[in-house]
Amino acid sequence: MKSPKDMRIIQIDITNACINQCSNCTRFCGHHKKPFFMDWETFTRAVDSLKDFDRTIGIMGGEPTIHPQFQRFVQYIGEQYPSKVKLPPITKPIRNFIKYIRDRNFYLDETLNDRKGPGLWTSLCNNYYEHFELIQDVFSYQCINDHQNPSRHQPLLISRKDVGVSDDKWIEIRDKCWFQNMWSATITPKGAFFCEIAGALDMLFDGPGGWPIEPGWWKRDPKDFGDQLNWCELCGGALLNKGRFSYEEIDDVSKTLFEKLKEVGSPKQKRNKVNILSIKNLQSTGEEMPDTINRYLPDFQERISRLNTVLNPKTIDAVIFCNSKEILENKIDSYTKAFNSVVLASESYIYNDFIKTVSSKSNIYTTSTTMNQWGRTLNKAIKLSSAKDWVCLIDEDTKLCVELLERFKTIILNPGVLYRFSISELKDKMVLFNTRAKALKIAGYDGISACNSADEFFGLWDEDKTVFMDGKLDDVIQNPDLELWVRIAENIESQNKAHVYKCLDKIKSDHE
Ligand code: SF4
Ligand code: SF4
Repeated sequence: MKSPKDMRIIQIDITNACINQCSNCTRFCGHHKKPFFMDWETFTRAVDSLKDFDRTIGIMGGEPTIHPQFQRFVQYIGEQYPSKVKLPPITKPIRNFIKYIRDRNFYLDETLNDRKGPGLWTSLCNNYYEHFELIQDVFSYQCINDHQNPSRHQPLLISRKDVGVSDDKWIEIRDKCWFQNMWSATITPKGAFFCEIAGALDMLFDGPGGWPIEPGWWKRDPKDFGDQLNWCELCGGALLNKGRFSYEEIDDVSKTLFEKLKEVGSPKQKRNKVNILSIKNLQSTGEEMPDTINRYLPDFQERISRLNTVLNPKTIDAVIFCNSKEILENKIDSYTKAFNSVVLASESYIYNDFIKTVSSKSNIYTTSTTMNQWGRTLNKAIKLSSAKDWVCLIDEDTKLCVELLERFKTIILNPGVLYRFSISELKDKMVLFNTRAKALKIAGYDGISACNSADEFFGLWDEDKTVFMDGKLDDVIQNPDLELWVRIAENIESQNKAHVYKCLDKIKSDHE
């Protein structure tokens, strides 16, 4: 057993609601009649209690991004427990996100921050995309697994007595539990625990709760774990070196735990998703896992399924400021094919005849614009199209590149960033922004309305969240923005610059 003070991570379980119900989930998702959502007061107390902890504080679920106060929580931990070094925002489009995260974790978390800072455990659902900008801004480490892959989860709802582990052997086996020795202590709404699984068991079986969430709780040594160790009696963490594919959604349990699930009215059990294992001498019917270190999912890249498009642009709505009827008439068909909707923002006279042509098309809206009301017109346009994702501002004489737009749908852009495209060396022929951008949230409706020109509107974004690109998307990257990362290495004050450069070399060579 390990003291939490010597652990690499201490988790804060902010919810046990999840979009999945994986086999043998460590938080027993699917077995609770009602999931919990940690309240603000408990969360702030949890973060404050860990202020002197020098490693990763994890925000964990369930799926933490679906907590209704996720944004507020993340802002708080970012302020109270910031990582020492931050990377500039992702600006270049990314094709292989999980590879990017692997490199980012290696460079930012392991190397620059020596594993100190806020961490996020997520299965990458729509809510991750919703908070994409904030997540990249705050978290030093991200553990992503969408569980649409062959990751194996070890059965946990196992009683050692059911599988015939005698009293004389038990303590030695328990104290070697790899979960506790390699993973985390945790805080749940019911208190602080020496082990994350013990915290989850206490929640599932309505236990007595954990230690008070107060500064220093995590400095306890194993000899002080006391009654919390009783949870090990109902846990297979130290017992089976076996596992089931998480996507099967079946939990393997021993007899005693099967009965206990019945007592608490487990919904997952009622759906017949619980399998009673017949185990003798610690041999189960599950598949063998490779080894302790690589037991989970050896290939990091499999953590996001190739079919997972959660981070790709969903919709692109166009707003075209245009005062040439002729141009519009010639191009309107290509616009309507390329975008989910098109809003024409023009002087009213344009519409006299033209409106008849366009009104028959369901994804075209029109709004009139007058001098010095650029921002108000844009607000109206966004409202008309009900744009919820990407918005593309197009210059009236831009030659639309359909191929470019199709490529957008296959790459990952940071919704917090303003992308300004020059086409044929002409600036801002096309500009992309996302309605989720923090810059727009801060400006609000009034802030946008107050913009008298496109340039004023572009000024709402910070410089480091504005990127200029050519129209060919040549800057699409498969790897991190290494030039930028090298510049960071040059500017940081580190005792160990050689180590930092070695890390960069390793990332670089991996991409060659
Ligand atoms: S995604 Fe994680 S928290 Fe959700 S059910 Fe699967 S293992 Fe449990
Ligand atoms: S046996 Fe279970 S509860 Fe006990 S330390 Fe291991 S994982 Fe935690």
